[in-house]
Amino acid sequence: MRVAVFSTKTYDRDYLDRFNTDSKHELVYFEAPLNVNTANLTQGFTGVCVFVNDKLDEPAVDAIAKNGVRAIILRCAGFNNVDLEAAKRNGIRILRVPAYSPEAVAEHAVALMLTLARKTHKAYNRVRENNFSLERLNGFNIYGKTVGVVGTGRIGIAFCRIMKGFGARLIAYDLYESEELKLLGVEYRSLDDVMKLSDIISLHCPLNPDTRYLVNKHTIGEMKKGVMIINTSRGGLINTKDVLVGLKQGKIGYLGIDVYEQEEKLFFEDLSDTIVEDDIIARLMSFPNVLITSHQGFFTNEALEQIASTTISNIQAVETGRPTENEVS
Ligand code: NAD
Repeated sequence: MRVAVFSTKTYDRDYLDRFNTDSKHELVYFEAPLNVNTANLTQGFTGVCVFVNDKLDEPAVDAIAKNGVRAIILRCAGFNNVDLEAAKRNGIRILRVPAYSPEAVAEHAVALMLTLARKTHKAYNRVRENNFSLERLNGFNIYGKTVGVVGTGRIGIAFCRIMKGFGARLIAYDLYESEELKLLGVEYRSLDDVMKLSDIISLHCPLNPDTRYLVNKHTIGEMKKGVMIINTSRGGLINTKDVLVGLKQGKIGYLGIDVYEQEEKLFFEDLSDTIVEDDIIARLMSFPNVLITSHQGFFTNEALEQIASTTISNIQAVETGRPTENEVS
């Protein structure tokens, strides 16, 4: 099948080519994102392969349908960037990668937490400059601390398993309780309790109207002084302006984020030669107790292999007209 792959980075090409054995499918790579302005590039393709920041709204879907595209193959789990109605009306199939290594994201959350707790990012830079002093590098143990988890789905469960090994006390909030986690000793509490009682709060729920700005002026006010907040889920879970105030007041002791509410203008791109106009992220980066990564929680060999192999198998399913559980309906 002839597929136009959008928002391509070198790693997308490497992994997809590896799983596209014998070049069975013709994959044509575009660095540009797919949206209504780039939809013309899809002429002559049966499928498009897209990622989180490609925008398949109604005009874009209508335009690719007119060009003969019959399938949208997502290299991610989320499909909030695709107009499902427009796709259905145009008879376009949508396929996705429902799950890929929840451990990858859980382990990244732990990496952010440990770096902040033990200041290894500072130690790394110091030692490279022959500064072997320990002054101001004192951290704290995770052992014995109360870790609050919001959202105990695939990633939240993987995160709790790791935290259990650290000897932390685990409390959690979710709309549904996991029996596996209860057996592990995780205590389900109200969202209020998780906010109030935790030394470290890690967010693992999806972004939806109920969870938008879950961390805000009010909830920050309820938290322990010096709390650590880790967000590897979606930027919109946090009201960043309120968090800035919390950091300035010392109420928030540490912030580790892999996602940011305005990330689509910044993340995944090398902007080192440009002036970043986003004053909020610039201010966040000025704090010594804030650690930001650019949505790399999923970025491990294992997860990339799974994304590529499922994507190729989804392309195969479209070519043969085979139904698959990866279909978005
Ligand atoms: P999942 O669907 O397995 O789990 C989500 C959990 O959140 C479910 O248990 C659900 O009941 C719970 N939930 C839903 N609404 C809630 C609410 N209002 N309050 C509390 N809990 C609620 O999803 P997952 O695979 O564990 O992924 C979690 C999130 O991680 C995703 O939504 C995505 O935003 C994010 N993610 C980030 C990366 C990354 O690279 N940083 C990669 C993949 C996923």
